[in-house]
Amino acid sequence: MSEHSKPGFVDTVATAFLRRRLQSRRLRAAAVRGLTGISAGSGGRLQMDFDHSATPFAQVSPWLAAHTSEIEAAPAPPADPLRVPSLSIVVMVVGSRGDVQPFIPIARRLAERHRVRVATHREFRPMVEQAGLEFYPLGGNPHQLMEYIVKTGGSILPTRVDQIWEDVPKKRAMIAEILESTWRACTESDPERPGARPFRADAIVANPPSYGHIHCAEALHIPLHMIFTMPWTATCAFPHPFANIDPGAHRPVESFFSYGIVDLLVWAGIGDLVDAFRTKTLGLPAVALTDGAALLDDHEVPFTYLWPESLVPKPPEWGPHIELANFVQYAQAQAYEPPPALLDFLAAGEAPIYVGFGSVVAEDPAALTRTIFRALGEAGARGVVSRGWAHLGGEAPPPNVYLIDDCPHDWLFPRCRAVCHHGGAGTTAAGLRAGLPTVIVPFFGDQFFWGRIVADAGAGPESIPIRRLDIEHLTAAFDACRRPKIRERATELGALLRASDGAELAARSVERHLPALVMCCSADPRHLAVVYCDTCDVRLCEACGREAHSGHLVHPYRYVDWGGRAPRGLFAELGELMGDAALALQAGLAEFLPSHGSASGDEPSRADRGGPVRKLRRWLTSR
Ligand SMILES: [Zn+2]
Ligand SMILES: [Zn+2]
Repeated sequence: MSEHSKPGFVDTVATAFLRRRLQSRRLRAAAVRGLTGISAGSGGRLQMDFDHSATPFAQVSPWLAAHTSEIEAAPAPPADPLRVPSLSIVVMVVGSRGDVQPFIPIARRLAERHRVRVATHREFRPMVEQAGLEFYPLGGNPHQLMEYIVKTGGSILPTRVDQIWEDVPKKRAMIAEILESTWRACTESDPERPGARPFRADAIVANPPSYGHIHCAEALHIPLHMIFTMPWTATCAFPHPFANIDPGAHRPVESFFSYGIVDLLVWAGIGDLVDAFRTKTLGLPAVALTDGAALLDDHEVPFTYLWPESLVPKPPEWGPHIELANFVQYAQAQAYEPPPALLDFLAAGEAPIYVGFGSVVAEDPAALTRTIFRALGEAGARGVVSRGWAHLGGEAPPPNVYLIDDCPHDWLFPRCRAVCHHGGAGTTAAGLRAGLPTVIVPFFGDQFFWGRIVADAGAGPESIPIRRLDIEHLTAAFDACRRPKIRERATELGALLRASDGAELAARSVERHLPALVMCCSADPRHLAVVYCDTCDVRLCEACGREAHSGHLVHPYRYVDWGGRAPRGLFAELGELMGDAALALQAGLAEFLPSHGSASGDEPSRADRGGPVRKLRRWLTSR
């Protein structure tokens, strides 16, 4: 902006946006600078330790305050979605069945007004198509992903050196495959349905692990909206679900830091794959390490989290581009035909406690089964125990226990009086929605987060991490489920959760954040603008452009300019702040990854290169 012109509205908005980006970059840099060590913490999470005397740490409080006040001043989206033209929307989801399920009702809501395709792993095609939605197969195998996550104790990065040699090449190959498939999901017709309609995405809805989302959006110049079941945006309120932060006075700041560090670790692990995807497949420039880790933040990509404000309030550090909806119920009860033996068991006495650990893999299923059976007996409770991937059971159950395989939670839980599970987001939601006292036995990742949330909400006892699970603790937890206070709180919470439709809220949130004003044809707002007439200075759909503007200067129109980078000078300071530490961190990882070249022989001498390298090495070899 020149001295002679007063800043206009657009300038003010853009400057505020850049200031927010500056604040958030500065905080990311402080996180890396203040970090003294990463090790394998409890529950397989990353234990992060910080040097509280370091200069960046001392500056953090005013920076955080500035960040929060910039956020408070940021413009909010319209309360009611503006009418957007009917779009082709691709919904990209990577993860297990439980991760994909909430996206089905959301996609169905969006499909009332748009053409919607759900792009996810091949094995979920029947689930998607039975819901009346279009499907596109993404690469990757959810079982292998889950197995890998279990092996690494819930992190997306290896925690033992042997895993690096065995698993990382396979995992990296899978991520490369997922990335490639996300682009086809935006641009190609269903390869397994001959004669399927051509598809080209006008908007992308995605969960964070689908990796390709923001890069495809940049290549197509279209909007992106993220949806997730666990916190993925920096806040002082709780640490990143994959991070373990010690209690104490510094916990809020360290919690905030943990998000930037996980982003950086993920980017350090997959950045080269993403860059190969960007340059070879999308024809986009490669992204620097410090940029790559912060892409979603830097662009303030709209985000909808699938839990209600009444359970986990929105933190003050989250801007107006981040919204909370509610849990999304994937209804299956209607189509379920229960076996007569289950109905007989349910009718034969007091409502049982449901016990199941979903798709997590137990180390010793026989011992876990004995613990569950004994604790149910000691607590004088009846139990419906799910075999799951944990393969519980094996031995004949006692008369107070019924063993089941697959059974829809929305059918079973209303027939139980309490639930005990691993704390997956979907199962937690189903139990709370049914108004049931909840015992959480977290194995890894966000399961600890949900354990904390349920206990804080008063809807269940303190969670019992799987390593501490024994007959005594489990019996006490089952007993706690009879306490009137917990039962009342669970009932009350259940009513609150059932009062609003999470899928509807999420779909509205997506529409509200679409840049509707710039997507409409100037001649008729019901049309989607695809060209721009320079002669008349208007956006137009193809039909309107063809008829009235022939002979004019018309070119293809783009909605979102993702490539718009900040002026160089503004980020010089930041580049310096981030640069050395972040690059050293990447170098530390690069030394270990087989695909980056030889890492044998001379490891000890190379271990002295800078602090973060040693930190990362300690972390990688500590188990
Ligand atoms: Zn038109
Ligand atoms: Zn014209």
